[in-house]
Amino acid sequence: MDRRDFVGLAAGSAALSWMAPYAAFGFQGNAKSDEHKVSEIYLAPFRFDVTPPLGHGCCGNWIKPIEGYDDPMEAIGFVIMGAGKPIVVCSVDWTGLLNEAHVAWRTAMAEAAGTTADRVAVQVVHQHNAPFACLEAAKIVADQGVLPSMLNVDFFRRCLDAARISVSQAIHQGERVTHIAKGQAKVLEVAANRRIMGDNGKVRASRGSACADPSLRALPEGVIDPYLKTVAFYAGDRKLAACHYYACHPMSYYGDGRASSDFCGLARKRRQGDEPGCTHIYFNGCGGNIGAGKYNDGTRAMRPILAKRIYDGIVNADVDLKREAIEKVSWNTCDFLPPIDPRWDEAKIMAQIEDKSQSLVNRSRPAYTVSWIRRHAKSIPIVLSCLDINDVSMMHLPAECFIEYQLRAQQMNPERFLATAAYGDGGPWYIPTLQAYPEVGYEVSVAWSASEVDDILTSGIRQLLHTTV
Ligand SMILES: [Zn+2]
Repeated sequence: MDRRDFVGLAAGSAALSWMAPYAAFGFQGNAKSDEHKVSEIYLAPFRFDVTPPLGHGCCGNWIKPIEGYDDPMEAIGFVIMGAGKPIVVCSVDWTGLLNEAHVAWRTAMAEAAGTTADRVAVQVVHQHNAPFACLEAAKIVADQGVLPSMLNVDFFRRCLDAARISVSQAIHQGERVTHIAKGQAKVLEVAANRRIMGDNGKVRASRGSACADPSLRALPEGVIDPYLKTVAFYAGDRKLAACHYYACHPMSYYGDGRASSDFCGLARKRRQGDEPGCTHIYFNGCGGNIGAGKYNDGTRAMRPILAKRIYDGIVNADVDLKREAIEKVSWNTCDFLPPIDPRWDEAKIMAQIEDKSQSLVNRSRPAYTVSWIRRHAKSIPIVLSCLDINDVSMMHLPAECFIEYQLRAQQMNPERFLATAAYGDGGPWYIPTLQAYPEVGYEVSVAWSASEVDDILTSGIRQLLHTTV
């Protein structure tokens, strides 16, 4: 891997005009809202393949690299034109897009659509047999010389090229969109809370995406959001695009080196087959502490069963869809840069990465922490965003937020229909709640932010939703 590849990509993102000098401590603010009473708006769906090549590292490369293919992975999204500068929303079948890698995707799509990067939301579905793309972390690992590559930068660049081509072709084929509809349905026997609490108030076990322990699977679901939500766009009575939102880690099993969009992607593809004229897009909600482990023993047989349960949720939400004429559209943003937890010290982490006696995972994974620390030092904020159309809000949050954030957001403004997509910029890894920090557990052990993140994210969401509650 060539070091110059990384430098070139990073230099492109450093020139972004929306970068501003922020204090090195936690920051949230600079809220912007851009409302338009619309006469004519256009929707331009796009999609392109992002299946990694053979040998590509998966999930940061501490599980088996790609050895074969079960089904292709895609980036799917849409451009909205006619409500100020174009707005781009996209969902990608990858584990994560972090820091400069996320900025590079947003910048490429913004340039292709003729807009600014703060009007582009890129979210991932978070499958694990997939790239976990962070340019700085990959560079840190590559500089060690001996560690396996985390990210194939040539492949990453090809995906950026595909994004540019796909978006620039789509905007010439936009269709006038006249109506929107919203629907929701409960999904049965997929999501459950991963964190199993002990009597001492600490996490005693994790149910994970698959769980072989019947005693853990017998425990209640715990806090989840059982609803799959759908927002659909129409040209008259013709459905052009449908966005589906559900909060759960999307893996039935992984680590076998076979690329797949896994059960959530398979549900999306089945629905796409039912309705070829409508672009179906799947977003993962705040699934940081949510997995399928209660209902999934991790056997091969469970993947189609879980896919069918998500598909049934999509079909059932469809029954609810009632078209309403689009009257107003707004794009709301708020910058977000939570403080780093004082546990994380760059020099100490780098010493561990350089320590040849450490395991591969102990030398690779901390590169993501260092990357976030370095990004934070450059004061490059994450952009929280929300697309409002009539009384529907489609909110875009970063990283692995706990489910409580989307439940809380729904409470803030219950009059509105709120669909939440998390897993945007993955830089901070997990975003637990304040209450979860003293409970510890895996998610807290790999959260780069201090517990003040709860307050900062909650007030950012409040600004996006224009509420003081
Ligand atoms: Zn995760």
